[in-house]
Amino acid sequence: MQDVVLPVTTAHLLHAALGYAAFLLLLYLGSIALPGSRKLGFAQPSGAREEYKLSGLGLFLLTTAIVLAGTFLFDLSLSPVLTHFWSLFIVANVSAFAWAAQLFVTGRRSADYSGANPTRLPSWLHDLWFGPLLNPKLGGVDVKMFAYHPSLIGLWIVVAAFAYQQYETRGEIPLQMWLFQAFWWAYLFTHYLREDFMLSTWDIIAENFGLMLSWGDLVYVTFFYPIAGWFLLGDTASIGPAAAMALVVLHVAGHWIFRSSNWQKDRYKRDPQAKIWGRPAEALGGKLLVSGWWGIGRKINYTGEIMVYFSFALCAGFASWVPYLLPVSLIALLAHRAARDDKRCRRKYGDLWQVYCARARFRMLPYVY
Ligand code: NDP
Repeated sequence: MQDVVLPVTTAHLLHAALGYAAFLLLLYLGSIALPGSRKLGFAQPSGAREEYKLSGLGLFLLTTAIVLAGTFLFDLSLSPVLTHFWSLFIVANVSAFAWAAQLFVTGRRSADYSGANPTRLPSWLHDLWFGPLLNPKLGGVDVKMFAYHPSLIGLWIVVAAFAYQQYETRGEIPLQMWLFQAFWWAYLFTHYLREDFMLSTWDIIAENFGLMLSWGDLVYVTFFYPIAGWFLLGDTASIGPAAAMALVVLHVAGHWIFRSSNWQKDRYKRDPQAKIWGRPAEALGGKLLVSGWWGIGRKINYTGEIMVYFSFALCAGFASWVPYLLPVSLIALLAHRAARDDKRCRRKYGDLWQVYCARARFRMLPYVY
């Protein structure tokens, strides 16, 4: 890392700030200008439903096309994203704090501010960390849905920058770096393919937008998730075909389980008559889906995503444990989430949840856990 990243100086910070501001502005304008379907969100705790414009797939594909066209037609390079990594990291942190501060000030003055504080934190700290508003808007754009774009498209740009840097310094890109690129692009593509799935998540339905989400989106995801890239930069030789095939199998299997399980549940919630694996959906008490993946594991969607994250880390091999911080941190996050969700479902569904647990006996790994 030291031989790639330039030191943080005032000039570098200025460059990073200008580049990052342009990136945010272009994404914002793009999300307004690009066509996108309009979808009604799920009922929020108050019962209200928000309408969202979903233009993420267009934004992601357009960014990919611009980067590819820029590369082949104008010799564009993304390696400055790595050489200015620490400057960009500082700028993104400042942006996340500034965004939370702006929302803190404007949100507390807004007519939508309820002052609700279900935590034991002082009200100012709650409003700074969790945010004062559930559905803040910026010029008509929903802030929570918009924040995924700098987060995920930014993540893709950092991931792609590793390939540029490697090609420029080594003159070639080994197979494992290609796999790393392909896995991340595919993961983001399928995310945006069903961007409407995000509308059913807890974050969109019930979480306010404050420092927790602005920092998570702008800093944590963008700068931490591509971590394996640093350990791929030094590789010169490609991995063998057997190792490459094993990585592809792990990724494709995990990706399939992860997305198709989430999409099955989503399809069922929207249409209880939906077909799953070719048969009409079966649900306990008309509420808890037991068809498809949901009859195999109660949290099999988590298993699939963990496999995907291991496929990213494994591209970097075993020379360092650092790339494994990503899948391991995801396991910790999802294990905690699974325990909380289990309690919530026990409260919500009562005995029916017990019946479901008896039917889908395992959480994440059939016959093991
Ligand atoms: P789930 O998609 O598993 O949603 C849990 C909720 O779904 C439950 O509270 C219940 O809510 C409903 N539910 C559970 N089982 C059933 C069933 N059999 N039939 C019908 N409804 C059911 O969890 P999350 O929202 O936590 O995660 C969604 C995805 O996001 C996961 O794939 C996860 O891996 C991913 N994720 C990724 C993160 C990352 O950083 N990469 C972070 C967090 C999540 P109700 O009945 O009220 O609808």
